[in-house]
Amino acid sequence: MHRFFVEPKAIGRSGITLSGQQAHQIANVLRLQPGDLILVLDNSAWQYEVVLTSVRGDEVLGAIRAKSLVASEPRTKVTLYQGLLRAHRFEVVLQKCTEVGVVAFIPMICERCVVANIRDASAAKIERWQRIIAEAAEQSGRGKLPVLRPAALFQQACEEVRSLSLIAWEGEVVTSLRSFLRENGVARSEEGSSTRPFSVNIFVGPEGGFSEYEVQRASAYGITPVSLGPRTLRAETAAITASAITLYEAGDLGE
Ligand code: SAM
Repeated sequence: MHRFFVEPKAIGRSGITLSGQQAHQIANVLRLQPGDLILVLDNSAWQYEVVLTSVRGDEVLGAIRAKSLVASEPRTKVTLYQGLLRAHRFEVVLQKCTEVGVVAFIPMICERCVVANIRDASAAKIERWQRIIAEAAEQSGRGKLPVLRPAALFQQACEEVRSLSLIAWEGEVVTSLRSFLRENGVARSEEGSSTRPFSVNIFVGPEGGFSEYEVQRASAYGITPVSLGPRTLRAETAAITASAITLYEAGDLGE
């Protein structure tokens, strides 16, 4: 069943009204008909099973048949601070980490970013990124849209994090991701530890990697350097791997 994240105002007491790009997609791309069922989500973790009653390219109407809570959101909230990458690679991170279960993305400007400054995160680019996130969230059955937060300088990112945080660094030789997660209670113990941290921040560098100075700064803010193993991963691989392993250890990829 096709899923659509919609503005809350599109959902009335007994029915939904879709217009614009979503009406066009339903009518002209997916060619759905009256009587077909779709799932509509208002980004509050509720989902509505809707039977279409009228389908036009500019407006789609539907009647709500059932309402239920979406159970697909992870309990552990992973926020990814991703050093800005060249276009396609950054989009791969957004798409794959949305599928995996990341709840928020912060594009980060680091010393060695090939993409030079915050102005590169233009309004048009941000809109495209948000569309990639929404499409990945709909395709993967997310209950809530991951948040794309404004781009931040590395120093700002270090200053703002409050909960358990790690910086993935290929130069780290002591702490592995596995030991970090277990020593900080992220790994689900048999009895389902209730002390598990609710959220984890993950820093991943850009194409040029983090500088030693950046890693030292992060450490000074309590952001732990962590190795992802002896092989050097491309940035997008590191982002996906670190997010997936964290959610796996937390039991959010299945018990
Ligand atoms: N030049 C490659 C590229 O263009 O993607 C690699 C750049 S650098 C290694 C990418 C980032 O991935 C690093 O800043 C780090 O955050 C993470 N990373 C890659 N391999 C890693 C490893 N073995 N351990 C920890 N972090 C790693």
